[in-house]
Amino acid sequence: MARQNLTATRIKPETAELLTMRVLRRERLSPHFARVTIGQDDVEAFTPMGFDQWFRLFIPVAEGSLDRLPNKLNALAYARFLTIAKTSRPVLRNYSVRAYRPDGPDGPELDVDFVLHGSTADGTAGPAATWAQHCRRGDAVAILDEGIGFNPAPGREHFLLVADETGLPAIAGVLAALPRDATGHALIELPDGEDQQPLDAPPGVEVTWLARSRGAAAGQVVLAAAQDTPVPAVPVHGWVVGESAMAVALRRHWVRAGIPKDDVMFCGYWKAR
Ligand SMILES: Cc1cc2nc3c(=O)[nH]c(=O)nc-3n(C[C@H](O)[C@H](O)[C@H](O)COP(=O)(O)OP(=O)(O)OC[C@H]3O[C@@H](n4cnc5c(N)ncnc54)[C@H](O)[C@@H]3O)c2cc1C
Repeated sequence: MARQNLTATRIKPETAELLTMRVLRRERLSPHFARVTIGQDDVEAFTPMGFDQWFRLFIPVAEGSLDRLPNKLNALAYARFLTIAKTSRPVLRNYSVRAYRPDGPDGPELDVDFVLHGSTADGTAGPAATWAQHCRRGDAVAILDEGIGFNPAPGREHFLLVADETGLPAIAGVLAALPRDATGHALIELPDGEDQQPLDAPPGVEVTWLARSRGAAAGQVVLAAAQDTPVPAVPVHGWVVGESAMAVALRRHWVRAGIPKDDVMFCGYWKAR
């Protein structure tokens, strides 16, 4: 994972054991997003926490490759995981819970929204983005719940929320879970205006969508807009996720603008090369 203070600030899940689930549906949402809905098997053991809840996603690469996974992912288990031969080691990536429904047609279900980046034709798409376009109903995956990163100190009622497309599922969850009297500003950069999604934001939180300008590096449009957004003279919680350089730069800007370090959660969700 790129630079962050997510592990320091997060609220851990009550139980975090490896859960196996199955693909229930796959849907192309927009030019750069595919939604994969998972459930069945161990889904009853999953506890939804809302906000920016995220998990480790294990995608099998061969028949039976999920069978040798650790039940918990501490440092030792991760080191062991890395000793599994590449041909049978599942792909491990981080994803957010876009939605949880206790009463789907096949029982409880989770939506996971994947950014479709790069190209499968020239090999620049990552394995997770590729899997999200080709998985089928019944395919197995495993997840390890990691809890939530959005954990403001008591008394913070004004929120500055900033994300690129990888943070759209998380910012959507934060906006939906905030108290309805919360105030603030959410800024979201997307590769394309057509990738916008309906959001359930409190009326006092303004939402600004920004389309990436042609040729701009990921995150730079939202970074500039967030730097131009005044920090009000009330207790603020800042939360920024997305391309690593953007998250680091905005955290630095906010701290210089007077937000205490402890009131900023920043996490590089991916790193541009
Ligand atoms: C806590 C957390 C929650 C996250 N939640 C989500 C989520 O809900 N949805 C989501 O789509 N992503 C999410 N991400 C980001 C996701 O984990 C990364 O984008 C991941 O690298 C994608 O894996 P991959 O196999 O597709 O590509 P990789 O194999 O990891 O990368 C292949 C190449 O693509 C580049 N790359 C990776 N991601 C992107 C991107 N988005 N745009 C352009 N280039 C990219 C890499 O730099 C690399 O060069 C989250 C990350 C974290 C840390």
